[in-house]
Amino acid sequence: MRDLIIRTFVLLFAIAMIAAIFVKSDNHSSAMNFNADNNPLLAKWEGPYGGVPPFDRVQIPLFKPALEAAMAEQLAEVQKIANNPAAPDFENTIAALEQTGQSLDRVGTLYGVWGATMNSPEFQVVQREMAPRLAAFNDQITQNEALFKRIETVYNSPAKAKLKSEQQRVTWLYYTNFVRAGARLDANAKKRLSEINQQLAGLYTKFSQNVLAEETDQFIVLKSEDELAGLPQSLRDAAAAAAETKKQPGTWVIMNTRSSIDPFLTYSDRRDLREKAWRMFVNRGDNGGEHDNNAIITEILQLRAERAKLLGYPTHAHWRLENAMAKTPEKAMELMEAVWKPAVARVHEEVADMQALADKEGAKITIEPWDYRYYMEKVRKAKFDLDQNEVKPYLQLEKLREGIFWVAGELFNFNFSPVTNVPVAHPDIRVWEVTDKTTKKHIGLWYFDPYARAGKRSGAWMNAYRTQERVNGEITTIVSNNANFVKGKPGEPVLISWDDATTMFHEFGHALHGLNSNVTYPSVSGTTVARDYVEFPSQLMEHWLSTPEVLQRFALHYQTGKPIPQELVDKIKRTSTFNQGFATVEYLSAALVDMKLHLAGAQKIDPDAFERETLAQLGMPKEIVMRHRLPHFLHIFSSDSYSAGYYSYLWSDVLTADAFGAFVEGKGPYDRAVAERLRKYIFSVGNTVDPAEGYRAFRGRDSKIDALMKKRGFSPKT
Ligand SMILES: [Zn+2]
Repeated sequence: MRDLIIRTFVLLFAIAMIAAIFVKSDNHSSAMNFNADNNPLLAKWEGPYGGVPPFDRVQIPLFKPALEAAMAEQLAEVQKIANNPAAPDFENTIAALEQTGQSLDRVGTLYGVWGATMNSPEFQVVQREMAPRLAAFNDQITQNEALFKRIETVYNSPAKAKLKSEQQRVTWLYYTNFVRAGARLDANAKKRLSEINQQLAGLYTKFSQNVLAEETDQFIVLKSEDELAGLPQSLRDAAAAAAETKKQPGTWVIMNTRSSIDPFLTYSDRRDLREKAWRMFVNRGDNGGEHDNNAIITEILQLRAERAKLLGYPTHAHWRLENAMAKTPEKAMELMEAVWKPAVARVHEEVADMQALADKEGAKITIEPWDYRYYMEKVRKAKFDLDQNEVKPYLQLEKLREGIFWVAGELFNFNFSPVTNVPVAHPDIRVWEVTDKTTKKHIGLWYFDPYARAGKRSGAWMNAYRTQERVNGEITTIVSNNANFVKGKPGEPVLISWDDATTMFHEFGHALHGLNSNVTYPSVSGTTVARDYVEFPSQLMEHWLSTPEVLQRFALHYQTGKPIPQELVDKIKRTSTFNQGFATVEYLSAALVDMKLHLAGAQKIDPDAFERETLAQLGMPKEIVMRHRLPHFLHIFSSDSYSAGYYSYLWSDVLTADAFGAFVEGKGPYDRAVAERLRKYIFSVGNTVDPAEGYRAFRGRDSKIDALMKKRGFSPKT
């Protein structure tokens, strides 16, 4: 539950914007000298490794004309296929479609990178204008009747049975995606559908803007030592640096973002300030006024319900889950409910532990949501004698990067070597070439953009700049990992937390999923798998951080160079199920509300009331708030992608926990035979096989929930 995995097309619609500028984007400048023939954003990628993204040639005014030209080009390509006088077959229809839109893929990659990591008011103007137009463009393709007829003919043709299994799967995917996008509707319904999609694209943009505005405009200024009580030095330094950017010299600023708020709630001794910070954070988008998202949510939900009905589904949730691994909302709910009760029971135990400690200290308080992280940390120290700050000196960013490279070498025979001859979007970004250790064959490129900066969205994620495929030639992949670590002073190592190190392994898991891809058709390549399956490879990789092989080699003290002491490792291990009640309930409450919201149908929903009533019915512990309250739940309201899909992290984690068991039952985490099965059936196949079948081939059976319950320390019988 660390990130959104981002692919180009999700990005086109999902990227948040900061300023609410409604100016039309006719931005004249040197870009006026470019047309579709010489716009560098449209050009074939040049340079080594089959060409690399021209990050050095991006100018914001080039985006709009490039996107327009690329969309026009793809429409023309698609029309040519639709008009083909030859009888439809796989090659002249499906394979031909797989070769369209290459210019848009290239521009879209750059556009996505700028949206997520190089954003600016000038760029936001372009996003605002282009979001609905890109939505309309997608509909123009899926609503092309002649094209759909051809796809349908190939899909229903007896010749399909003779195709290779990957080709059959791609055909099925095209057919299903077109039907699901309304290809079978009559002209009026299609028109309404396209209106809805454009309206939604605008609302998603506005929703994201509002959240970002409240995260940017609201902050807490601390003015005295007294107000800093309890905060470790690293946090004080970060708050002082934030004060500089907020033009509040001589003070300390706590920003309204998770990376700033969570540590403050963990360490601040000032209960009044913890409450203030907590209230600010959980009310983003819910404060009335111009950035309030409640009315937007009501509108989004109504449009989604109308669209689902139009497409012939009972609800938006049924539409979204049809092609997911879960298949139905009921299956997803069943899993969530199985975990919910034991997780809530654990929360009550955790709260009892915290209350006892507070009573013993004579605090004379009842545990409230703003006390949870603070007392949790105290209980961790009291019960396990583990101070998170003791671990940090052993977790150097660059050493851990070497650690993940080493793991990739052991599991997948990959070698990473640094590359300096390719352009990057920002000087902090570095690039490595990935090759096979034995054959030296080129596999792909890995871009690493580790540091926070203005214009870069928060969190951590993976992105594919180019997917592996063979239909347009032997194309190798280009992937990136992105994070928001605070850049250290020159020459000083960047130290990160255990959680952040886990996230690094997670995102690298997505990258490895892309790098291992070995398919023919781009639309089933790498990480283009079902939403509730895609977090499986990434969550699985988290397990390798705590292996002794990694810790002894790479968790080295930044001053002494000595490996992390076994005693500390043992303590970390003993705490592996600590606080899982909180983590599970915080996440699962949001996932349950997401699903129930999208099962509610066309009724007019008041988000505040719905959230409150649903949580009451669920028996939500009063000491915890949903990880994302509805007015800022970007996963489900900044695009369709994770809507009725936030359960995916839990669904994937069932597979993750169960899959790691295959290593444990074998020769351990570095068992070559199990790793080879993992590569063969999971990491290399993309979306060429049904995920349940792929999993069965790897494990020899279906997944079971037991390993997940054990991993989180829950008894399944509770
Ligand atoms: Zn992920």
